[in-house]
Amino acid sequence: VAFDFTDKKILVTGASQGIGRAICIALCNAGACVYGMARNEAALDALGAEAGPKFTAIVADVTLGAEEISTLLKKHQPFDGLVNNAGIAVLEPAESTSEESMERIMAVNFRAPVVLAQIVLRGMRAASVSGSIVNVSSQAGLVPLKDHLAYCSSKAALDMATRCMAAEFGEYGVRVNSVSPTVVMTEMGKKAWSDPAKAGKLLDRMPSGRFAEESDVVQSVLFLLSNGSAMTTGHALPIDGGFTTC
Ligand code: NDP
Repeated sequence: VAFDFTDKKILVTGASQGIGRAICIALCNAGACVYGMARNEAALDALGAEAGPKFTAIVADVTLGAEEISTLLKKHQPFDGLVNNAGIAVLEPAESTSEESMERIMAVNFRAPVVLAQIVLRGMRAASVSGSIVNVSSQAGLVPLKDHLAYCSSKAALDMATRCMAAEFGEYGVRVNSVSPTVVMTEMGKKAWSDPAKAGKLLDRMPSGRFAEESDVVQSVLFLLSNGSAMTTGHALPIDGGFTTC
């Protein structure tokens, strides 16, 4: 599907690799000015070299405090769109999930997207910009997965935050949605699903018979950022080949 984001400014977190990187390239190709945030400066530089002059790197940890993030973004505001894609997973059995992983995962996967959305919303409101915020959640927010207690919980929290923000931001012309992909074989996907026996059990339960590709997620994110989804807000769009619905 061809999207046109000419003259639109979009902030994408977790831009240095995987799904976030693919979203940045697709948005640049669709004419957007893309601001990619992540910690790995070298990887962002390499992305800039590939994506061209429409890409601006913002080297930062998404869990910095609201004031620091706000200062970093000030000169780039207002944005027309935000993709909260940065995320982490730590695999631990439920009975021994550590406090440290719970805190770290919630900080990156839940707190940071909300803080970023608040900051971007303020910029949109000040400039009377109607915008779209897309949170990259997961099928793990909808169904429990073994060894994923903290991760599943963080994505379920993000889905509820999406709905709460949609309910309140609509008044300012800002939509908030999330996407819920199944496994994508990025670095994160490989960490959990490289074992064919383990992956096979999940695949057997998926009507699609395959995991998602980065491009499957990219297309849905661009749709939710675009005016093609102008009447959709507070929604979590499954990209799971029917896994959570069949
Ligand atoms: P990767 O591990 O490949 O990439 C994660 C990205 O997040 C990196 O760019 C990393 O950048 C960034 N990131 C992590 N922590 C921080 C931080 N503290 N501050 C800034 N950036 C950070 O993961 P994927 O591309 O697979 O995942 C992207 C999103 O998709 C995540 O939210 C994930 O939960 C979700 N998802 C992934 C699935 C999968 O199977 N792969 C399935 C469903 C959802 P850097 O290290 O440079 O900071």
